[in-house]
Amino acid sequence: MQHVDGNALAGPLAEFFSFDMTTATARCNGCGAIGELARAMVYRSGAGTVVRCSACDHVLATLVETADRAWIGLSGISAIEVRRG
Ligand SMILES: [Zn+2]
Repeated sequence: MQHVDGNALAGPLAEFFSFDMTTATARCNGCGAIGELARAMVYRSGAGTVVRCSACDHVLATLVETADRAWIGLSGISAIEVRRG
């Protein structure tokens, strides 16, 4: 199977990340729980933000921001579902 480069993701990812992600449903890698990101536990500190599963406390995501950059890690989420319309 042939592949194309990552530029092919521009359209689909622009649509995906234009949604309010707090209404998206995510599956936890730790316990398999599925729930809206709005129900996750969010811990903020000077170093950044850690998002934890409300069922098992597993780290779902991390966010670190500086004045000119941001890093978003989603290593604890196996899938995100966004409902259209
Ligand atoms: Zn979990």
